[in-house]
Order: sequence, then structure tokens, then C-alpha cells
Amino acid sequence: MLIIGPPGSGKGTQAERISERLGVAAISTGDIFRAHVKGGTPLGVEAMKYMDNGDFVPDTVTNEMVRNRLCQDDVGSGFLLDGYPRTSAQVDYLDGLLAAREQELGVVLQLTADDEELVRRLLFRAKEAGRSDDNETVIRHRLDLYHQQTEAVVARYAGRGILAQVDGIGGIDEVTDRILGALAKMLGVPVNGR
Ligand code: ADP
Repeated sequence: MLIIGPPGSGKGTQAERISERLGVAAISTGDIFRAHVKGGTPLGVEAMKYMDNGDFVPDTVTNEMVRNRLCQDDVGSGFLLDGYPRTSAQVDYLDGLLAAREQELGVVLQLTADDEELVRRLLFRAKEAGRSDDNETVIRHRLDLYHQQTEAVVARYAGRGILAQVDGIGGIDEVTDRILGALAKMLGVPVNGR
């Protein structure tokens, strides 16, 4: 499955929780990029040029990284992608990867929240966690990119009938509950007791 949401929607937090409930690996492209930046790898040096400005890392770089990650042993029985795909070209690439693996997307979950709430949350996080891309100019740019490019990604999955939308405003547990409810409905099976 995929989790898609604007910056600050809580998708990383929820991805961790949901992947535990489903017993599948959570793969966050943002986290992988940050690990490379921290480790000073060539990929990290390349990615940092884009991340600090809130731009997308180029599709070719991101796609290749995801392809490599999906070769690891822990993704055999399924996986949850957090933060990928964000562009239409990434959707095409993922379609190819999944077809080659004879796997299909089960659900695409979109977390929603309005921009002003997102900016508030991210500015708060900036004080706590000090992420280098959490300042107001860069935050607004990341939101713009989400609206310009990632909403088109969501629309494509909606067209395939596999989109579930969940309101991301509320307490962390409350949102997790909403997601589990939406997944149960979408998959037609209970997800851990729901
Ligand atoms: P957010 O969604 O809050 O912007 P993430 O941690 O998901 O945060 O991503 C951080 C940064 O990593 C993005 O701004 C972008 O530069 C890069 N990134 C992550 N995923 C992708 C992707 N699928 N395509 C391109 N760039 C990505």
C-alpha cells in the first residue's frame, strides 16, 4: 500500500503504526534520503541539493533508490511506501516495478489537512526537531509542489478505484483508528480486530 499526504500531515508517524499493524515494512523515501545525507554518501550529497530547498529529488535518482530498496528481503510479503510516488513519472515507474514483481497495489491512502494547519504543525516541528527543510519559505514551496504534482498522482489512483481518503486532523490515535477503519472497508477484511 501507499500513504500519500502533504508535508506535515503525519504520514510518517501513521506509516510506522500502520505497517506494524499490517506486519509489513514501512519504506519512507524521505527517511532514506535523510540517512544518506547524514552518512555523507554520494546519493546523500546529490539529494541534499534538492531537499534543503524543498524541491523533489529528480525522478531518475529517486526511482533507482526505490528499486534498490525493494530488492531487500523484508519486502517479500508486501510493503507500505511513504512519500513515493509523488510525481506522475514515479507512478509509471512504480507500475513497472510492481508488474515485474507480479504484485499489485492494494490501497492508496491519502491523508488530508488544510494548508494553514500544515504550516502551523511544521513550524512547530521546526522548533522541536530542527529539520533543515522546515522553515516557512521552504514549507510553502513543499506544499505548492504537493498541490501541483502529487495531487495528480492521487487522482490517478482514484481513477483506479483504490484510493481511500482520511482526515489527518485530530489526535494521533484518532487518525490511526480512522485509517484502520478505512483500510478494513477498502480491503473488505478486518485489520487487526476492526
Ligand atoms: P515531506 O513530505 O514533509 O516534504 P519527506 O520526509 O517525505 O517530507 O521528504 C523530504 C524530502 O525528501 C522532500 O522534500 C524531497 O526533497 C525528498 N523526497 C522524498 N520523497 C521523494 C520522492 N518520492 N520524490 C522526490 N523527492 C522526494
